[in-house]
Amino acid sequence: KRQTSVVAAASSRSEQLYNRAKKVLPGGVDSPVRYFEPYPFFAASARGSKLVTADHRTLTDYCMGYGAMLLGHGYPSVLDAARSQLDKGTLYCVPTELEIKLAELVSKAVPCADMVRLVNTGSEATMNAIRLARAFTKKKKVIKFDGGYHGAHDYVLVKAGSGAASLPASEGVLEEASAQTIVSPYNDAAELERTIERNRDDAACVIMEPVLANIGLVLPDKNYLSDVRKITQQNDTVLIFDEVVTGFRLALGGAGEFFGIRPDLATFAKALGNGFPVGAIAGSKEIMQQLAPAGRVYQASTFAGNPVSVSAAIAALSTLFEAKDSIYPQVARTCDSIVEGIREELEDIGGINCTINSIGSMYQVFFTADRVRDEASAKKADPAKFRKLFDELLRRNVFIPPSQFETCFVSYAHDEDDVDRTVDAYSEAFKKIKE
Ligand code: PLP
Repeated sequence: KRQTSVVAAASSRSEQLYNRAKKVLPGGVDSPVRYFEPYPFFAASARGSKLVTADHRTLTDYCMGYGAMLLGHGYPSVLDAARSQLDKGTLYCVPTELEIKLAELVSKAVPCADMVRLVNTGSEATMNAIRLARAFTKKKKVIKFDGGYHGAHDYVLVKAGSGAASLPASEGVLEEASAQTIVSPYNDAAELERTIERNRDDAACVIMEPVLANIGLVLPDKNYLSDVRKITQQNDTVLIFDEVVTGFRLALGGAGEFFGIRPDLATFAKALGNGFPVGAIAGSKEIMQQLAPAGRVYQASTFAGNPVSVSAAIAALSTLFEAKDSIYPQVARTCDSIVEGIREELEDIGGINCTINSIGSMYQVFFTADRVRDEASAKKADPAKFRKLFDELLRRNVFIPPSQFETCFVSYAHDEDDVDRTVDAYSEAFKKIKE
């Protein structure tokens, strides 16, 4: 049954744009997660915690570029850095000091980052991290976790989260490619150990989101990540932390720092550029030195290290270094206030079974009474109620990602007013859901 969004239905400018878009853009969008029924609203501008739609509505944004906008939309020092680079050139395709500066900052921030290769997106980072792991171990197979999303490329589009959570498999990905990927349940170290031992001679890497953020938000059980580290080490399998979401967000040094675990490789994008397209592969010198031209693993891109994105990223990381003692506690406090507020409203209203997972500046609501600790338990949550929550929040000018299988992101720009308005909106939305 097709559900309709009352708000979107009233948004005539967005409707016009969507009708125009779908003639030239498949599905009317450039990334499937941007679509929701009957059609998405279109953006006009964004600043701080607010996103202004083509229909002149101002929304409090918790999608925040799917986690990219840690400092908020249009953070002044990031914009200034990008602007001042524009006049000096937008692409050189010869190295710049800017790239050294950014790599030095990443290396200083991230405990496992002896060396860094700059790329443009998270997908590029994870695709090449896997290639590096295969070359380093001379093994073939990739182990990933149920519901983990690592971008839109062949070896990781297997039981993936995010927009791929509702697809059994993507057409166009060869079965021969998917057969090289083994999927294990998250938060089950014993099962991972059995899987790796069964594939000891084949398992090149374990790639994981340390905190799953693309199947809703799912946190690691106590000791789980250290168990994964131990198991991979014992079996000569490269551990890749995909920190595209958690990098620079959970802590300046990402989940690696937050949980005190040192993976062999880590991948970054999103918060690194605070809205500009830039990503990174980082890791031990031994593995990273295999990248061409130092070594024989080929990875290349015309736009890698492009000076505008790199300048923006230097400004973003510099801000995070300078103000880390205020930024990280503040975003966590803001997120906690929202979650506590939602919990209190749920208690007052009564009769709605909800589980809320949160960590740092990330949270998600699941309509289930059970603990959500892996993909299977996340998928038990009621999707119709979530869809209603999305619609009712949007009607009240609060924008969360449209899918249950995403995470809500709080930024440095969200303030107490946002918290109050957001909690009120959730409260009213829950009452509607209960009706
Ligand atoms: N890895 C994770 C954990 C992600 O959440 C994403 C995107 O949402 C990616 C990789 C892919 O990044 P990108 O969309 O920049 O290619």
